[in-house]
Amino acid sequence: MIRYALRCGNGHEFDEWFASMADYDHRQSELTCPECGSGGIEKAIMAPRLGGNSAPEPAATPCGLPACASGQCAFAD
Ligand SMILES: [Zn+2]
Repeated sequence: MIRYALRCGNGHEFDEWFASMADYDHRQSELTCPECGSGGIEKAIMAPRLGGNSAPEPAATPCGLPACASGQCAFAD
């Protein structure tokens, strides 16, 4: 079973279980929104996780060598 986050044309989001991706494709045209009853149901785009606790990218250094980050880079001016 696969649970998809779905969204109707009016922006209502809901979840629906499907036996498989093929089952979703088969039933997609007959799905209706539980809130407004409209068709045109599509899979909601899963927003990628932004921000949060991830560490920031290390600052880029001119040459990428460890010595560069410590201020001893032979290529830095
Ligand atoms: Zn709706």
